[in-house]
Amino acid sequence: MGKPLAVYMHIPFCRQKCGYCDFLSFAGREDLFKPYLEALVQEIRLLAGERPPVATVYIGGGTPTLLSGEDLAFLVQEVKAATRLDPGAEITVEANPGTVTLEQLRSLRAAGVNRLSLGAQAGQEKFLRLLGRSHTAAQTCETVAAARAAGFANINLDLIYGLPGQTAAEWQESLEWAVALEPEHLSCYCLQLAPEVPLAKLIAAGYYQSPAEEEVVAMYYTTLQILAQAGYEQYEIANFARKGYECQHNLCYWQYRDYLGLGLGSHSLVSGERRVNEEDFSSYFGKIAAGKSPVAVREKIDANRGMVEMAMLGLRLNKGLAAEDFFHRWQRDLRSFFSPRLEILVEKGFLRWEGGNCRLTAKGMLASNRVLVELLGAYL
Ligand code: SF4
Repeated sequence: MGKPLAVYMHIPFCRQKCGYCDFLSFAGREDLFKPYLEALVQEIRLLAGERPPVATVYIGGGTPTLLSGEDLAFLVQEVKAATRLDPGAEITVEANPGTVTLEQLRSLRAAGVNRLSLGAQAGQEKFLRLLGRSHTAAQTCETVAAARAAGFANINLDLIYGLPGQTAAEWQESLEWAVALEPEHLSCYCLQLAPEVPLAKLIAAGYYQSPAEEEVVAMYYTTLQILAQAGYEQYEIANFARKGYECQHNLCYWQYRDYLGLGLGSHSLVSGERRVNEEDFSSYFGKIAAGKSPVAVREKIDANRGMVEMAMLGLRLNKGLAAEDFFHRWQRDLRSFFSPRLEILVEKGFLRWEGGNCRLTAKGMLASNRVLVELLGAYL
């Protein structure tokens, strides 16, 4: 392990399961908090032999703040002890409003956590209820205030648009509500539902209706306009930040750098190998108890696949994918590797070249999934 890693730690517990969620997380498993924490610490300690350099740490979930501030602080201390963590590293903890106290936030700050990512999702109660969120909009405001009081100077709010029954005006209201809370970073995702989640089933059964495509397009353009006016720079399809507050951890993913996932079902990409940890508790606990790595799947990424993955991720960034970086990594020319599809998408106005970088246009960002499939689909 040469280059600094982005380390992700998964906390797979939630207070209740949201109706749109297909993440690996479980409600009502408080009985597993302690054994899980112990196992995760053991997994972190497996790194101590190599002491890899680490650039960023992200504790995500699930709802990490269901664990106590001391427990989360302990995880950060263990990472510090087992790795060579950059002294200026970005250390993020995800939290849901209503699950986190001022005392917890102070413990996190004292442990060196310097970024808080809050699942706000919407500013109106009716949409929070529709999504099955366990908090109110007022609790989001309280949590932001508590985080500021605890000394957090870097806060992200996650928001979702394209909700059933949502109009562009209501989305604008959510955005303005969020901007008024003055976060340094906003992630604005369009609702995507796996067919098996409860909300998708309710829509399929006709209880709710997803907004029309034109309405969703209007919401996306509203996002660009409102956040630009408020001084946020878009740096990725769904991510906006004040200058200097781009999420360093997520940039590692989009720049196709190595990352290490720890905990149940976590994914890693290390030295051209993708790894996935055991996804059920008994297998995960069993391997850890035996002193083994909890990795269940290992897969070597060949060069063709690596080039496609790097393009798929790099094109999500506003600055796009640098042909020079691509060549440096693979000794292949970006234009010729993806020829003729790339030129066709440039002609159609979905992609453009700018200073040696290939990037999505505004039109391309809106249709990013289709553009990426058109460019890369033949290789997948
Ligand atoms: S809080 Fe997040 S991880 Fe937990 S169920 Fe809701 S969306 Fe899923």
